Amino acid sequence: MKKIAVLALALMLVLTAGASATTYLGFGTGGTSGTYYAVGAEIAALWTNNLDDVDVTVQSTGGSKANIVSIVDGECEIAFSQNDTALYAYEGTDYFDNTVFDNFYALASLYPEAIQIVTPADSGITCVADLKGKNVCVGDVGSGTYMNAIQVLESAGLTEADINPTYLSFGEAATAMIDGQIDASFTTAGIPNPAIQEIMTKMDIRLVELSDEEWAALSEKYPFYFLTPVSADIYGLEEDASIPAISATLIVSKDMDEELAYNLTKVLFEKTSEMNHAKKAEIQISTATNGVMIPFHPGAAKYLAEQGVEVTAGE
Ligand code: GLU
Repeated sequence: MKKIAVLALALMLVLTAGASATTYLGFGTGGTSGTYYAVGAEIAALWTNNLDDVDVTVQSTGGSKANIVSIVDGECEIAFSQNDTALYAYEGTDYFDNTVFDNFYALASLYPEAIQIVTPADSGITCVADLKGKNVCVGDVGSGTYMNAIQVLESAGLTEADINPTYLSFGEAATAMIDGQIDASFTTAGIPNPAIQEIMTKMDIRLVELSDEEWAALSEKYPFYFLTPVSADIYGLEEDASIPAISATLIVSKDMDEELAYNLTKVLFEKTSEMNHAKKAEIQISTATNGVMIPFHPGAAKYLAEQGVEVTAGE
């Protein structure tokens, strides 16, 4: 009897050692009408399909700030974050209220996210100053969009107190605009954004551009913003627009092991062609460091170095 038990135990140990365990990874994205969610679902599939024993599941979230908090709290291992939000977390500034959240590193910069201030084409709102007294969605709770909205309002000398703010996801804001409840909505996201596309099926829209003075004030105080062009045909606009943008980045927990971070980075850049989303064309080594203001995970840094891109890595 004793002998059988010992043999059974030995067999179990051999079997357990042979079968490698699956690593389950949570991936914080954004609202389901966001670009993060759509692109994130495809990147998650890329990783799950190309890496043995790795299973990545996307989570719908409030956006960049909520994602950083989730990584730091151990609720997910990978997430999207705007480059500016990631820096605020490291410094404990702006809406991180003097609390440093830095248990994460950068994996890669992916694509520009434009600060799209959507308004009905006939709203009469043509620059930021015109938002005064209006019903304006300034982004979801926990979003990076919110901080952009505050900074853009500031460029016209406005604060949250000068507008009637609402805090909605992109999808909720689209419904509110279609129903005539809001006059304008801030959307910091990759173009095209599904929620804005939903609005344009119901009404003609405009993307509010900053006046020269407003852009000068914004870019002087926050130099990480850059202007990005939006071709009129994307949203059926009357004319092309040029609006401020920041960068969408991927971040991972500092606790992630180096080999895993290396493999995630490698698959991201080498298997991109397996994606369908239009954003795949923008996921490139040549822009992998764009706007990143925090250290890279050592695993990501190792892969990028092999591709001739030197970055500052964490410990
Ligand atoms: N950049 C947005 C935010 O964190 C989310 C963008 C998206 O969901 O595509 O507020």
